Amino acid sequence: MKVLVTGGAGYIGSHVVRQLGEAGHDIVVFDNLSTGYRWAVTCGELVVGDLADEQAIADLFSRHQFEAVLHFAANIVVPESVENPLKYYSNNTRNTLNLLKAVEQYQVPYMVFSSTAAVYGMPEETVLTEDLPLAPINPYGASKMMSERMIMDLAAASSLNYVILRYFNVAGANPEGLLGQATPEATHLIKVACECVTGKRDGMSVFGTDYDTRDGTCIRDYIHVEDLAKAHVMALDYMAGGGESRVLNCGYGRGFTVREVIDVVKRKSGNDFPVQETGRRAGDPAALMADNSRIKQVLGWQPDYDDLNTIVGTALAWEKIWHEKQG
Ligand code: UDP
Repeated sequence: MKVLVTGGAGYIGSHVVRQLGEAGHDIVVFDNLSTGYRWAVTCGELVVGDLADEQAIADLFSRHQFEAVLHFAANIVVPESVENPLKYYSNNTRNTLNLLKAVEQYQVPYMVFSSTAAVYGMPEETVLTEDLPLAPINPYGASKMMSERMIMDLAAASSLNYVILRYFNVAGANPEGLLGQATPEATHLIKVACECVTGKRDGMSVFGTDYDTRDGTCIRDYIHVEDLAKAHVMALDYMAGGGESRVLNCGYGRGFTVREVIDVVKRKSGNDFPVQETGRRAGDPAALMADNSRIKQVLGWQPDYDDLNTIVGTALAWEKIWHEKQG
């Protein structure tokens, strides 16, 4: 299939591009390289451009007849979205609208969209099904919810089919050390802990130890980036086989506390970096895990890397490679 991958030079997009290449797809990556890298595009053609630029999108779609669009390009830092909401409504929501105009005009049949568990907000439940009401509590989650809605509405009014994937906590790296998270100023737990091991950071904080969980720290559902990438490839196959539009959670359905994650990073690295216990971070629910029965049933997806040691091991190995790459 001829596929467009927006944000294909970024962390998750680059892993998906690699798997799409292995599956024999013909790939064009469109990325503004704001947080992505040229070296991360290991297959296909890279077009450097921004989804704010409607002329660039028009040029892209007039040169290629895409059968599918996988849309990763977005900003993803929750606290930044609170401070600068319009950046998120511009780069995430409005730019998705720009992309959808071309999808409509060129009658692209399939779309896979990167959404997030942040669309659920602070639910009462700890294991989340796709049918929960959407109630995001920050502009990041709201910007993604609005994008989801535009995709659904366009699909209802056209021949577009979509798979919207709601990611839980994505972590880990390509097991061969070819790719990994290289995002500057990352805020995600496993990445931050790995940066303590390489010495990029002097230490880290645990945000809140008074939650109603087994050790007082928040529980999250960490999913290996290669398993997540596989879901995208399977979503394309599913739609090409006539599957109808779906919204699917991407997680393993189990969770680890912040302390458990940090302990694994320390044990695997042999590095006892300083950890400070501080107050809660605004907007953090105590526990979030995916009910993943739907993705298993609809796509036949099964994880290959559902093991915190593997997730942390690949993340650590990549962090060392990336640290040396940067000199
Ligand atoms: N967290 C932490 N210290 C950090 C980064 C994250 O204690 O330096 C906690 C955070 O409060 C949350 C969990 O780790 O409970 C996962 O946070 P992350 O930012 O990785 O993902 P989120 O669940 O917010 O999408």
